[in-house]
Amino acid sequence: MRFTNKSNATSLLFFSVFSVSSSLVSAAPNPLPSLDVGLTFKRPCMADPKGRSASNPVCCKWYEVLDDIQLNLFEHECGPEAHESLRLTFHDAMGYSTTNPLMGGGADGSVMHFAEIEMGYVANHGVDEIVELQRPFAIKHEVSFADFIQFAGAVGLTHCPGSPRLQFFTGRSNQTIFPAPDGTLPLASDSVDKILERVNDVGFTADELVDLMASHSVAVQRHVDPSLPVNQSFLDSTPGTFDSQFYLETMLKGESFAGNGSRSEATSPFIGEFRLASDAALARDPRTACEWQSFVDNRTSMNQKFKLAMKKLSLIGHSLEHLVDCSEVIPIPVQPPSNSTTSLGNSASYPKGKGRSDVEVACDNGKGFPDL
Ligand code: CA
Ligand code: CA
Repeated sequence: MRFTNKSNATSLLFFSVFSVSSSLVSAAPNPLPSLDVGLTFKRPCMADPKGRSASNPVCCKWYEVLDDIQLNLFEHECGPEAHESLRLTFHDAMGYSTTNPLMGGGADGSVMHFAEIEMGYVANHGVDEIVELQRPFAIKHEVSFADFIQFAGAVGLTHCPGSPRLQFFTGRSNQTIFPAPDGTLPLASDSVDKILERVNDVGFTADELVDLMASHSVAVQRHVDPSLPVNQSFLDSTPGTFDSQFYLETMLKGESFAGNGSRSEATSPFIGEFRLASDAALARDPRTACEWQSFVDNRTSMNQKFKLAMKKLSLIGHSLEHLVDCSEVIPIPVQPPSNSTTSLGNSASYPKGKGRSDVEVACDNGKGFPDL
């Protein structure tokens, strides 16, 4: 179940109190009672062969979904399906407006319910593959498309070393009644003015947009220039690691186009890396440059803010009080292998041959650019 020709970026973006043994599960006649004393007690999931437990029985079903997609969708790796599943959370949720209800229902599964319409939009070019890969899993497990899309995005990311453990909430309806119209997703060729206007209308600040862009630390373009091989299409030099290299490398002076130099592309700092025009612009715009730069030497902050922004993204069009928190089902993200040479420190590091003189600083907060 692998893509044949991967891509990731026509659009802008595109984030136990106790466990029980299986013997205890089988012996327990009823779920254990919960005590309302400020602690969350987990109860055994009665049908779970692995004997896992959950604070709300509604979450038990998601363990089944988890086991299935880990093996049969993600194959336990930070590969194309993980990248594309993260991307899909954005493509579904951005169909929304705080001012116009006709702009869509946000994270409502419309990209899957109305794939025949929404996949026709330019911004969704290439997203159809992951939609069709995911759909059978949602149907098989009888969960809503909207929930599944957010769940798969969170689970897939755990295969990328360095990633935060995203939250997951369930309870979104499967009765989505209309598609999002075209034009809700920013394009890589859009101006910063246009991008900010759109994301502000969805409910995000400029800083939160920058926070969401951490997803480009594990991303690859396929449709801005489909002729480029995958190994020349990554958006940072460490596409298998959720680190802050993306933010540093997008600030480096561009040298030449990796691809065909379309309006969606900016010049890259070195061979083998692809730079989206929107990323180059956001890294250099006074409204976004300081938040962008702040992550260059602070991966901890990047992860915390990405996690918060992804929570907000997953709740677009929904009220938290109508959903159930099943974050406990999301696995703890993998760690880099012990023999890995990939740095996962708090700071990014200059790619070979690059240094401070190659950085184009646009943030004017009086603090200067950090030593890396
Ligand atoms: Ca949607
Ligand atoms: Ca990376």
